[in-house]
Amino acid sequence: MTVETQYVGPDAVQALVHYAQAQGLDRLTLISDDRTWPALGEAVHSALSGVGADVQLALLEGEEVIADGERVLEIMAPGNQNDRTFLAVGAGTITDLTRFVSHRLARPFISLPTAPSADAFTSANAPMVVNRFKRTLDAQEPMAVFADMNVLCAAPSDMIAAGVGDILGKYTALADWRLGALLWDEEIDQSVMDTMYRVLHNVSGQLDAIGRREAVGIAELMRGLLDSGTAMAHWVNSRPASGSEHHLSHYWEMILLQQGRPAALHGAKVGVGAVLMARSYQNLREISVDEVRARLERTPRAQPDEERIRIRAGYGALAEQVIAEHAEALEMLPVLSVRMRTRLVDHWEDVRAIAEDVPPPEEIAAQLRKVGGPTHPADLGFTALEIDDALRYAHYMRSRLTVRWVERALGLL
Ligand SMILES: [Zn+2]
Repeated sequence: MTVETQYVGPDAVQALVHYAQAQGLDRLTLISDDRTWPALGEAVHSALSGVGADVQLALLEGEEVIADGERVLEIMAPGNQNDRTFLAVGAGTITDLTRFVSHRLARPFISLPTAPSADAFTSANAPMVVNRFKRTLDAQEPMAVFADMNVLCAAPSDMIAAGVGDILGKYTALADWRLGALLWDEEIDQSVMDTMYRVLHNVSGQLDAIGRREAVGIAELMRGLLDSGTAMAHWVNSRPASGSEHHLSHYWEMILLQQGRPAALHGAKVGVGAVLMARSYQNLREISVDEVRARLERTPRAQPDEERIRIRAGYGALAEQVIAEHAEALEMLPVLSVRMRTRLVDHWEDVRAIAEDVPPPEEIAAQLRKVGGPTHPADLGFTALEIDDALRYAHYMRSRLTVRWVERALGLL
């Protein structure tokens, strides 16, 4: 399925009503929480009820809504939803919950973003918390998105900054993808790549306006997030939008979940992750091919057994799960690392050219600062040890080649 209609403008509620009438959608379930109900949910409910639609409500109460089994149960509890269209009124978490439940009920859903906070609105996967562990589950894209500019411009500033962080994370995500193609024969798609670089260019050109919450900037950010999500949904996986900076974010998120600490915004973690990974790329730029040869000579190759030991050191109770998810990649490691080592020498100038396209860490930090976003993981409450551990172990979060594996091969990790 693809997103049929995408509205970003001043009167999303009216646009939604027209769309629902044109599509004959008169039985709906609206999902929102304590914050998104007054911001938009209530207006959506009264407008649709006003034209005679039957709108059932699922208002998720409480301080922190996370995408877990309890919330799924809460949404599904009323039953009798087999002929309803779902409306997700909220940011990432509400959208993921709605995307998951509606998909499992084989019903479509419509997204009504309340903040330009992440690129998940138009994506097809739902990151859900299962046993205190975040897992990416198959779900679906919305049939339509109606983003209201007045609501988005009034969104909490940390959520706007998080959206910018999720976009700026593409600098390192795209560089990682290009490394994967160069060193590991990963498939790449130039048009997806072009879309993502265009989004980066457009959003980074509007940071002052976004910082001032001007409609022109916020609209560009929202469109960028929607385009990024769509590019991800149409590619085989999240590769175009998620690399080593996301792995850091996932690692920190795992720590917070395991310890029952309050969540930090996805895009905020991604933004500070991008600053750290930009430093890695900066380091690569300064290495000569002779140094690459010398480093490969003295750095032992990655071996499955040693990697399993490292994963156990970094993941505690979750280690076996991480190892199981990487079973195939771990076994392939000796073969892949031989190939990668040869390519690193043969194509070192290409690696450096990829690294050149990542701005220096100070520049990404300055961009985040323009929208009032955090620039260092300590700003999000992570300790020096948690930052260190993420740098040491986060690349095991996904079986994907990133700048971290290149640093690993060169003994820089
Ligand atoms: Zn993201």
